[in-house]
Amino acid sequence: MNNFIKFLVSHSKSYGFIFPSSDIYGGINAIYDYGQYGIELKNNIKEFWWKSMTYLNDNIVGIDSSILTHSDIWKSSGHIDEFKELLIDNKNSKKRYRVNILIENYINKIFYNNHNKKNKILIRLNKSLKKKDLSDIIKLINELDIYDPISKNKKDKYWTNMHFFNMMFEIKNSKNLFLRPETAQGIFCNFINVQKSSRMKIPFGIAQIGKSFRNEIVARQFLFRLREFEQMEMQFFIYPKDEKKWYKYWINKRLKWHLLLNLGKNQYRLINHKNLAHYATLGVDIEFNFPFGFRELEGIHSRRDFDLKQHELSTNKKFIVNDGKKNKYIPYVIETSLGLDRLFMAILTSSLKEEKLKNGKKRIVLKIPPYLSPVKAAILPLVKKDGLLEITKKIFNNEKVNHKIIYDCKDSIGKLYRKQDAIGTPLCFTVDYETIENNTVTMRYRDNMLQERIHIKEISQKIESKTGLKNILEKLLK
Ligand code: ATP
Repeated sequence: MNNFIKFLVSHSKSYGFIFPSSDIYGGINAIYDYGQYGIELKNNIKEFWWKSMTYLNDNIVGIDSSILTHSDIWKSSGHIDEFKELLIDNKNSKKRYRVNILIENYINKIFYNNHNKKNKILIRLNKSLKKKDLSDIIKLINELDIYDPISKNKKDKYWTNMHFFNMMFEIKNSKNLFLRPETAQGIFCNFINVQKSSRMKIPFGIAQIGKSFRNEIVARQFLFRLREFEQMEMQFFIYPKDEKKWYKYWINKRLKWHLLLNLGKNQYRLINHKNLAHYATLGVDIEFNFPFGFRELEGIHSRRDFDLKQHELSTNKKFIVNDGKKNKYIPYVIETSLGLDRLFMAILTSSLKEEKLKNGKKRIVLKIPPYLSPVKAAILPLVKKDGLLEITKKIFNNEKVNHKIIYDCKDSIGKLYRKQDAIGTPLCFTVDYETIENNTVTMRYRDNMLQERIHIKEISQKIESKTGLKNILEKLLK
């Protein structure tokens, strides 16, 4: 783990964002719990995505399908046969790797700027993976002279035979039940229900936020690769001829959404998918610059009619639609699929800063986009006596129905500010002796620590204008 990730993991735990799951029993690999501030941030991200999809588009509706699913769904969708990763072990270090990731990371390091060379290798790798030509892949590993990247010993090239491993979690004592590895199938299986009950016409979309489960054997990057994670997926059903148009449309739309988060334009790049999943015919990844380099954050795919056709074949239900002009067709699907936990990590990664102050001291601050911050504002008394605490509580009680705010009086004001900086609270309002005289408070900004004096009556409107989601949703419409 690099030093920044260590800092991130420790900050996330100390300040109630992320805890290792089953912590008191020693934790479990690649499973985490969200703490008191983590859940607020996560809920705010969900709200932003959900409203962007289902409020701003009158032809997109949301559903919430079950996590436990019938095994026949996964037989039809191809996941039982195809949702497999090729794994390899190192005999010396006893570390296990996904073969494609081992090779990709290696060539990215060795041939950093030589895109031609990298591309050639990736094309060969993907061809061999598709054909399941394991002898060529081991040849490639030997030709490239790949050694174990974690083991310090460069001679650790003692690789075992490779084997395919299905990533789905089967429920052992319940016949026919799987934990879903993607939320998308819940959408496909409800296509007819939603279409009939909403009477929507193509093109229209169905959005869903929910847990997915993959038995990731190789998971060493905090929230990036989890075994239990959440996806925010939208399947957009279209007339087949419009495939390219809507594919481009959703790539642009999704990129614009990410850029509104203000994490930095250079932190993103679009990469055409070279190793397409079995269901996809076109695919692009929106990659984010994580502390370990650019990696997939969101995938946009054309799944064509692959899934609906498979379900039609297996169930005899009709997915054919009629466009009223004698055209009958099974709709194509453009999918946007974003990992909530990966986005959470991207936001924390870009927001966590250690700053040097003018007085030589340091402060740790989480510069989370204000409309996503777990706590929008803190109301703080300068001291607990002389009636200041009572005024603080009164302001808190009046305002708590509108926004997620807190009041705190357990430390000196300097320490209270530091704590709010560390959890990313964009605004602090301080009640002091002047408040008793003229009903004003100090408003302090998290990012530049500047302060101004405002009337108590203005607090609500200030919180809304500086941290409200509405402003950012309006920008998305422009
Ligand atoms: P990767 O190649 O990184 O394994 P993928 O191509 O298998 O990802 P998809 O099946 O396209 O991912 O899933 C859509 C999104 O779900 C991804 O872009 C990612 O943000 C998220 N995701 C997938 N697997 C995981 C995981 N194990 N942990 C956290 N998020 C994940």
